[in-house]
Amino acid sequence: MKREDCIFCKIAQGEIPSKTIYEDDTFRVILDLGPVTRGHALILPKEHAENIFELSEDIAGKAMVLAKHLAVVMRDRLHCSGLNLVQNNGVSAGQTVPHFHLHMIPRYEGNGKDLNWKAGEATQEELEAVRRQITQ
Ligand code: 5GP
Ligand code: ZN
Repeated sequence: MKREDCIFCKIAQGEIPSKTIYEDDTFRVILDLGPVTRGHALILPKEHAENIFELSEDIAGKAMVLAKHLAVVMRDRLHCSGLNLVQNNGVSAGQTVPHFHLHMIPRYEGNGKDLNWKAGEATQEELEAVRRQITQ
């Protein structure tokens, strides 16, 4: 996708208004239009990269440092008791907007764990086969 067709490029560059909670030269952080919980925010790099495969290591590192900073702000200001970082890459992973974004989802006591996945099952042999496939 070209940058001029990308809605998150337009939001990150300030061409489309958004509820911005943080901005610097590299990132804009906005409130999600369809919040899963109160305070659900998206860290958007200003430079277009479709997903983690395209993202530079520099921006990847800075995004996590910013998430760490904002996590503390959210805990202090929103009084959330937990927080999920979620980052989808590719349609098969649930990505709907093809511009890298890191979800910050504050969690509150009593709001359930239905956002989290259920554990699957694997034998030791299956785990070993995966380990070999990744490392050898
Ligand atoms: P994804 O499914 O790609 O990981 O997440 C996309 C997220 O972007 C969704 O949570 C959706 O609610 C949010 N979103 C989509 N379009 C807009 C928009 O125009 N503005 C804002 N603030 N959020 C958006
Ligand atoms: Zn973009």
